[in-house]
Amino acid sequence: MTEPEPRVRDGGHVGQIDATKVPRYGGAATFARLPRIDEVAGADAAVIGIPFDSGVTYRPGARFGPSHIRESSRLLRPYNPALGVSPFATLQVVDAGDLAVSPFSIDEAIATIERGARGLLEQVPYLLALGGDHTIALPLLRAAAAAHGPVAVIHFDAHLDTWDTYFGAAYTHGTPFRRAFEEGLLDPSGCVHVGIRGPLFSGTDLPRDADVGFQLITAPEADGLGVAGMSERIAERVGDRPAYVSVDIDVLDPAHAPGTGTPEAGGLTSRELLGVLRSFTALKLIGADIVEVAPSYDYAQITGIAAAHVGYELLSALAAASGGGSSPRASTVAEQAS
Ligand code: MN
Ligand code: MN
Repeated sequence: MTEPEPRVRDGGHVGQIDATKVPRYGGAATFARLPRIDEVAGADAAVIGIPFDSGVTYRPGARFGPSHIRESSRLLRPYNPALGVSPFATLQVVDAGDLAVSPFSIDEAIATIERGARGLLEQVPYLLALGGDHTIALPLLRAAAAAHGPVAVIHFDAHLDTWDTYFGAAYTHGTPFRRAFEEGLLDPSGCVHVGIRGPLFSGTDLPRDADVGFQLITAPEADGLGVAGMSERIAERVGDRPAYVSVDIDVLDPAHAPGTGTPEAGGLTSRELLGVLRSFTALKLIGADIVEVAPSYDYAQITGIAAAHVGYELLSALAAASGGGSSPRASTVAEQAS
């Protein structure tokens, strides 16, 4: 039997594998080289992979997103200087592995994801899901709303994803937020799209989207607003509602995220996106997803690294929002036993 891998221990939490002792490129990849969920007694946040892409309308491949984001997250270091927080010392964060989701039945997959998320939320209060295509947001929102009531969704995407059907299908990656609205999972007074751009099907798309309750910050508006202006608009819209953050990686310009299924020119830079996420420290963050990373179209891990940093900033904002205090929940199984 080999020695247990040395881990960073800070704030009473089991952190990342210690990169000063084990090179970052060695060993199996969990998100940010954090412990698996079965290696700790309890956690404040869990990263969960959902390798599902049967709801896409254009390029497939996001089923390989979770493993690609994990592989691309090996270089994330423990301290976030932008927020002055060590997220994995402030919170016990774990990797809960992947849900085993059917690639053949969207209905069955959605049920599996909802069941898996609800089960995990009984153990861990905050989930960061790695997709997968955007279909997965619907069952994740069902689980989130079951725990918190209707939620404000901060939706980063090139696309509205509030369309009704494709080819008569109601459950696709272009429809999750309309279904969520219909099911009463959203607080329509607190929802906002960020980064919308590109051609639409018709002039009625935007009014129909407004009926669902989302406000719009388009990608062209990002130039005038800047990170501070976008952050302010989002904070005003969301207020103190429970906030769910859904990041479709195609919100980024294809130059910053080529590895995705429905790329649109003219998107945000990764610097803009990370900057806006850092402003979320005053929000009541209850869950998040990062979707549509399709590694077959990626180059040099550009998209994977962007997605890994998005996850890191979301967890950092959660840690900062929690006040950086220590949590009573975290101690290793081994420590408890001794
Ligand atoms: Mn999109
Ligand atoms: Mn989307």
